[in-house]
Amino acid sequence: MKSVTGRPGRPLKCRVVAGIDKLRAPKGTRDILAPDSARQRHLVDRFAAIVESAGYGQVISPMFEDVAVFSRVGESTDIVTKEMFAFTDRDDPPQHLALRPELTASIARAFVQHRPTAPWAVWYEGPQFRYERPQAGRYRQFMQVGVEVLGSADPLADVDTIVLAQEFFDDIGLTDTSLMVNSMGDEQCRPAYLDAVRGHFTEHAAALSEQSRETLAKNPLRVFDSKRPPDQPIIDTAPSLVDHLCADCLAHFDDVRSALDRLEVDYVLSPRLVRGLDYYRRTTFEFIAPGLDTAQNAIGGGGRYDGLVEQFGGPPTPGVGFALGVDRILLACDAADVFAAPDDSADVFIVDVVGGVEASVLSQQLRRAGLVVTRGFDQRSMKAQMKLADRSGARVAIIIGEQELSDGAVTVRHLRADSDQHAVPYPDIVSHLQELFR
Ligand code: AMP
Repeated sequence: MKSVTGRPGRPLKCRVVAGIDKLRAPKGTRDILAPDSARQRHLVDRFAAIVESAGYGQVISPMFEDVAVFSRVGESTDIVTKEMFAFTDRDDPPQHLALRPELTASIARAFVQHRPTAPWAVWYEGPQFRYERPQAGRYRQFMQVGVEVLGSADPLADVDTIVLAQEFFDDIGLTDTSLMVNSMGDEQCRPAYLDAVRGHFTEHAAALSEQSRETLAKNPLRVFDSKRPPDQPIIDTAPSLVDHLCADCLAHFDDVRSALDRLEVDYVLSPRLVRGLDYYRRTTFEFIAPGLDTAQNAIGGGGRYDGLVEQFGGPPTPGVGFALGVDRILLACDAADVFAAPDDSADVFIVDVVGGVEASVLSQQLRRAGLVVTRGFDQRSMKAQMKLADRSGARVAIIIGEQELSDGAVTVRHLRADSDQHAVPYPDIVSHLQELFR
């Protein structure tokens, strides 16, 4: 450990890597390179097209917020207590900020700040940050897409969001996902349920894992999140939420379920699905990809959070939404062999052995004509540039050499089939290639 000077008078203690060439992306983060980056963007584009066709408008909110925004999502929630990247800035007095671990809280904060007309149906995309123990499908920076509807208590708003997620999975070819559905009750019926669950886990506390005993003291519902083997039989025999719902919550849940049936959306009733955040009320749901390991097979989830907006000082406003994990969805697509990375081959590679601006002018013309054009630089040898042309996946190479320059033509060489080549007069090259790629 070496000390690095931070703000004047405040040494910033951090680990310093021996050599600058040893620097790597931080633990739990990744560089996503082409063509995977294009695949991720394409996935987000498909999501945007689907939710925008349903009238949801995009919200782009800050990647960091006042830490108080996230404390609202639940003081006994791991993502707030253990996993937040929180820091102070250089203001005097310093502001307490945190990289966002999720987006629902930011959307609720934005709703109170801007007072849009309700119902407010929005979507978002972007990275989230959680200080988790990294493993396959679990990162410290990961990408989510999601929707929220604020200002509607209608069970059909719950169904609208669920159906959109389902449409999206179908659209990208991920047709084997399972939808798990539960109701968490509300402030009327949940306290009695909490008592029943607390009683059950307390009765079996000796058999619970140590971590779950600690969790039980803070919030008995969080014990359901445990995947530790000793906890499983005790979780399996715990009282079920749906048996404790009050009449209103039961009616809401019945409406959700019958609409899903009517829309032919398959789901599994999951009485132990409590989800990791404290703000949920009534409907909760999760999408599971069977092709992934159980530790990271949840590819998205959401639910209703009536009451959250009030915690931000807003008027009573019901809300419902979901977030999907893009990184995991892509892993699930790999496992199901669907939604392949797009072909990132070039159409044309320009081999420039003379230098000068000719190749740049031709690249510009061909790109303007809609072709994907890449080119050689540095007047490398013909052989070296032809190697690059092959590697680029281009269908044709265009060669600009001394001879070509003096003839006012270029050589077009086909790279994929036979290596047929012919001269094309310079003025005809754009129309020639447009014809070829039509
Ligand atoms: P949550 O906001 O916890 O409900 O998460 C919604 C979805 O985001 C999950 O179902 C996962 O697909 C994804 N997700 C959550 N945490 C991570 C993480 N650390 N790394 C990758 N994906 C994550």
